[in-house]
Amino acid sequence: MSTLDPTSLDVPAIQALLAAGATAVDVTQAYLDRIDAVDGGLGAYLHVAGEAALARAAEVDAARAAGGELGPLAGLPVALKDVFVTEGVPTTSGSRILEGWRPPYDATVAARLKAAGTVVLGKTNMDEFAMGSSTENSAYRPTRNPWDPDRIPGGSSGGSSAAVAGGLAPWALGTDTGGSIRQPAAMTGLVGHKPTYGGVSRYGLIAFSSSLDQAGPMARTVLDAAVLHEAIGGYDPRDSTSIDAPVPVLVKATGEGARGELAGLRVGVVRELGGDGHTDGYDAGVLDRVRETVELLAGMGAEVREVSCPAFDLALPAYYLIAPSEASSNLARFEGMRFGLRVGDDGSHSLEEVMSLTREQGFGPEVKRRIVLGTYALSAGYYDAYYGQAQKVRSLITRDFTAAFDDVDVLVSPTSPTVAWPIGARVDDPLAMYAADLCTLPASLAGLPAISVPCGLSEGLPVGFQVMAPALADDRCYRVAAAVEAALDAARGARFLDQLTDRTGAPA
Ligand code: GLN
Repeated sequence: MSTLDPTSLDVPAIQALLAAGATAVDVTQAYLDRIDAVDGGLGAYLHVAGEAALARAAEVDAARAAGGELGPLAGLPVALKDVFVTEGVPTTSGSRILEGWRPPYDATVAARLKAAGTVVLGKTNMDEFAMGSSTENSAYRPTRNPWDPDRIPGGSSGGSSAAVAGGLAPWALGTDTGGSIRQPAAMTGLVGHKPTYGGVSRYGLIAFSSSLDQAGPMARTVLDAAVLHEAIGGYDPRDSTSIDAPVPVLVKATGEGARGELAGLRVGVVRELGGDGHTDGYDAGVLDRVRETVELLAGMGAEVREVSCPAFDLALPAYYLIAPSEASSNLARFEGMRFGLRVGDDGSHSLEEVMSLTREQGFGPEVKRRIVLGTYALSAGYYDAYYGQAQKVRSLITRDFTAAFDDVDVLVSPTSPTVAWPIGARVDDPLAMYAADLCTLPASLAGLPAISVPCGLSEGLPVGFQVMAPALADDRCYRVAAAVEAALDAARGARFLDQLTDRTGAPA
């Protein structure tokens, strides 16, 4: 079944197979077989919806045979981060406190993907309540990086990144509060995009930090990511922060980028994110790849200049006050009464005791740390000094972006200061874990779109290049990412031809 080898298929390749007569059941089965074969070791999925997926694929095949109306993504498998509620399908957000819960409805993004004809393979592993950068905070099991099983796949959407990078799903949805789509994409050689805040519905997304949370695509190519983003994006009256604007036109922008149409584009390289005087904690290999990528863009006609955004230096402390503050409020709903786990409900405990036992056993250490931190930052007497101050920093960061975008069209940086680190290396050091988010936090705090696109390897591991744009200009991220992708593909092709020539002694 070499034509149905999931490790080598992007979305157009699957669509070509479907057009040539492969059934959606064949395609789905190929992914389920791959999951069966390797997920025991990888840990990408928390729940595999095998039977439901095959039944859904059979429906698509029947509709096709009957000449019925097919959705634009008919028969394409997809994986969903376990933070999205899915009707009748277990949804845990990576936490024991939601173990056994089967939601009564679909998140808007899940409903949109269903309506488009996709086949949901299952729910992917994640850091508990999306708090983490390595997927080691999952209450169930860690996920491994398909590039090197002894390393983390990034987080918190590490199940989604490992699934796509390992060929256990063609593409997947993740969520990004402070970097959780972009960083795991960078760690596994994928494309990951955090949309403009409000560009994709949060309805049915289990809330971590509501003013930051945003769902988005994780895929093998920029085009695949754009297709998935267009399918989930756009206004949703059920999310009060949803922007009432047309779905952004992304696939077209991807085509323009792939053709190298960048002449005149003004690119700002952010000094505070790995530039002169700001290289502490960055891998030299990461900085090299990013520098080469910037040179590539200049070679395509982009005007490159360095830009300073001084408040970015404060993004980390501001984020780690704002996000836990919002989390401490959002997570109050998990009290053992309405969803999932309930501990001590044997008649010998009071209501308060049941709630506290449930939370004691249901939440993991990082979630507890965040709740305590957030509650402290919001408490009377400390509110102004911590939460209030962090909100001021958030405004300064937004102001830096606004000033920068007066002069440039996009800002670029590494996605992550380092490549994927060994499993276990940072679990006892929360600050080292938080430092992984250095480059992704500014766009999160300002609500701006940002993409991570692979830009080569360092120490044999993938490096991500981040492109940030003004609100609602997600298309710029895709255009630049597609240009980078195409240029690197061409360079790889040229290297391959060189090697071929070396070996055969003649031009290929
Ligand atoms: N790593 C960051 C955190 O732990 C971001 C997580 C996210 O984007 N969900 O909060």
